[in-house]
Amino acid sequence: MQDYILSGPNNINPVPHVPFGKFLYHRIKEHGDKIAQVDAVTGETRTYTQLLTLSLSVANSLWTRGIRPGDVVAICSENNLDFVLPVLAAYYIGATCATLNPNYTTRELEHALKISKPCIVFTSERALHKIVQVSRSISEIREVVSFNKEFISFLQDTSCSFKPTDESDPGVVTAAILCSSGTTGFPKGVMVTQKNILTVYMHMIDPRYGAINNSDVVLAALPFFHAYLFVCQLVSICTGIKVIVMPKFEEELFLKSIQKHKVSLIFLVPPVILFLAKSDIVDKYDLSSIRELRCGAAPLSEEMETAVMKRLKLNKIRQGYGMTETTLGVTLMPTDKSRFGSVGILVPQMKCKVVDLTTGEILGPNKPGELCFKGPLIMKGYRGDFQATSATFDEDGFLHTGDVGYYDQEGFFYIVDRIKELIKYKGYQVPPAELEAILLSHPDVKDAAVIGIPDESTGELPMAFIVKQPGARVTQQQIIKFVADQVSPQKRLHGGVMFVDTIPKNPSGKILRRVLRQMMKTEIATL
Ligand code: AMP
Repeated sequence: MQDYILSGPNNINPVPHVPFGKFLYHRIKEHGDKIAQVDAVTGETRTYTQLLTLSLSVANSLWTRGIRPGDVVAICSENNLDFVLPVLAAYYIGATCATLNPNYTTRELEHALKISKPCIVFTSERALHKIVQVSRSISEIREVVSFNKEFISFLQDTSCSFKPTDESDPGVVTAAILCSSGTTGFPKGVMVTQKNILTVYMHMIDPRYGAINNSDVVLAALPFFHAYLFVCQLVSICTGIKVIVMPKFEEELFLKSIQKHKVSLIFLVPPVILFLAKSDIVDKYDLSSIRELRCGAAPLSEEMETAVMKRLKLNKIRQGYGMTETTLGVTLMPTDKSRFGSVGILVPQMKCKVVDLTTGEILGPNKPGELCFKGPLIMKGYRGDFQATSATFDEDGFLHTGDVGYYDQEGFFYIVDRIKELIKYKGYQVPPAELEAILLSHPDVKDAAVIGIPDESTGELPMAFIVKQPGARVTQQQIIKFVADQVSPQKRLHGGVMFVDTIPKNPSGKILRRVLRQMMKTEIATL
């Protein structure tokens, strides 16, 4: 059975054992007057030297405010050039960053902030009033800083000589607290260590996995607050490339930016690949600078992959697979090979076992089971949630993903299903348990269950099954609005509501989501 535990290759070079802030500081200094960032809307640019000066100034301001190693600095914002400054500053100090979606409602923000407990929150205008409101009930928050107002004062100490800490142990220090619901329940705070991120850096410069080179131009079209781009942004800075920053995904701006800045590399999710495959406006732009598209966060169909490769004349789309709990990709398509529909091979130093869903037996090639991983990319745990952490790891230290997949004789992985509760809408997490709790708080709802129904353009649409209280007259639209008022846009009931007599459950009361999914398949087939 031990034979069936797969291992990635060794790293070409060891992962540096230095505090991440110090590592970033030296990399940024090395890149000097190269352009680090360009705002895709305004055209404003920042060189690496400016990035260093500004981030050191922010570090100094944080230090004078009493922020110390181990403290948490939160950032709640859409993408902009400033986003990364408090992140770098926190790392020079040895502090931790927590990121938040600015579209979160106050209910969602309160839940996330109660987990991360930051001392200070940097926010964009969009989230400012919500953060101010929520911060009243979180005693740890000492200050809320708007990027548009007070932040200016953090940038003025341009002659400061702040020195990044030498003292933090990258294997122990939590670099980031990122939101993920894991395999069950409500959103949790994934603790990613500095070493986790340094390991991603080593993978990103590994020529066997399509190394980023420092002449690349990357387009940041996905949100920095999500683990995927949060980590990619930091790694991009380490490699010294130019990052074009889009505040949010907009079709024309996306295409225009590729053409104007000769973008060579983009980290994407399947809905954007679908847009590149199908939209007519794509032909209006010269996208020939693209050398590589990387795709992850949700399943990509073979049909889409082929269509985009053909349209953009690429020889592959490099798919990877991972989750917030694994920092970034634990599998990635290697340089010298490609396989349609595969998410690639294991990245260096990672181990995987595929376990049978009923017996727990470790399976060999071509046999689907739950994917479980161990190695230097795996999170430290969920912050303040020992129970959820221990439920996610088995006695051999493998993290159970809740995803079903298999590997072939040559070690290429394929993702075939998801057994965890998670729904993925446009690559965003939608935890059914959170929506069910909201639905059950409605006076006319006796019971509720939420599933994702397959949808080509978004991945899955959250849909609710509702058992009404006897005599209740609530409508589907009222239920949809009730949920929409309390959640951020990706978690709305885009798949609608169906009234049913009962929710199928097992004897211990667990919702049988598979039965509901099957019910929907039959329903759709008979339309
Ligand atoms: P997140 O933590 O938001 O990145 O979501 C992680 C989940 O996204 C995984 O557990 C999978 O269910 C799904 N996922 C990520 N990458 C892929 C992929 N390449 N193919 C299929 N599903 C994926």
